[in-house]
Amino acid sequence: MAVAQRLQKLRQKLVESELDAILISQLENLRYLSGFTGSSGWLLVSSDSAILATDFRYLEQAKKQASSDFRVIQIKDGIPQWFPKLMAEVEAKVLGFEANNLCFANYQRLVEEASKLQIQLTPTQGLVGALRAVKEEEELKCLEKAVELADAAVEYISSKIHPGMKEKEVAWEIEKFLRERGSEAIPFNIIVASGPNSALPHAEPTERLICAHEPIIIDLGAWVEGYCSDISRTICLGSPDQTFVEIYDLVLEAQLAAIAELKVGITGEQIDHLARTLIEQRGYGDAFGHGLGHGVGLAAHEEPRLGSNSTSVLAQGMVFTIEPGVYLPGWGGVRIEDMVTLEQGKPRVLTKARKDREAR
Ligand code: ZN
Repeated sequence: MAVAQRLQKLRQKLVESELDAILISQLENLRYLSGFTGSSGWLLVSSDSAILATDFRYLEQAKKQASSDFRVIQIKDGIPQWFPKLMAEVEAKVLGFEANNLCFANYQRLVEEASKLQIQLTPTQGLVGALRAVKEEEELKCLEKAVELADAAVEYISSKIHPGMKEKEVAWEIEKFLRERGSEAIPFNIIVASGPNSALPHAEPTERLICAHEPIIIDLGAWVEGYCSDISRTICLGSPDQTFVEIYDLVLEAQLAAIAELKVGITGEQIDHLARTLIEQRGYGDAFGHGLGHGVGLAAHEEPRLGSNSTSVLAQGMVFTIEPGVYLPGWGGVRIEDMVTLEQGKPRVLTKARKDREAR
């Protein structure tokens, strides 16, 4: 397990950020750094100590799961009760916290307790996220398993879906398939959006009966050994209309063009711009209202971000989606999403599911 190396890299970041220690609250970060999969706890990491603090409910689990680099301690009640005790374990005058993952109430409590101890609180963003963005070999293997299962689910549902089925029924068929084949849970709510509903990028499955000749967006993911996959396909039952053919081919062209240009060092903004320009040139710029993609790992959405204002620089070993979409209110939408990694400087598409315009 590479946990010791991850901790080492985080400590390097603490030095660079002039922090004595950091309090980690984001659950995937807890898992990434310590191996603990529970849903409540904190990590306190300094240059020479690493503590996993959790309450009674998770204590035994934490002791079993946490790597030997971590000391597990039990905490009780809220921040005012445990923070002073926890901070007595380390020597830290400047303490980082995860600004994107602390609710306002906890932040206030933290400020109050830290000031009593004369500890300076410093917000940090993406310290662990940057580490997680680049996958280790073992992580890539888990991600590939999750992708394979998602591919199989697409194959399965393509053969099963037919006009007259409700969107919810299709979503449930997919969910059952994923769970029966080993998905630990589903990483996000499955999207099955048909006809005009597919114009909503994050539609929820409804009672609507699926019809022939209309776009159907299916967006699903599996969860294997903690790692997620994320895939979208747009299909049509029976012959598609002219709009479908035009939009589908455009979205696919934009996706393939973006994938072809992927390389180490390109930014999330540059690659987004490339796909976006192509879609804009055909007059559908306003209909592509979301980013081109996002990293996938322990979370379904993580670093890097591929979008208009993204400063993420794509690097070897990153795993992310490429998912342009065009959405026309009243008619519907098309989104095609694959997971891709950068290997030896080049893109390798992990997703294998077919991109037929029509279901078989
Ligand atoms: Zn996605």
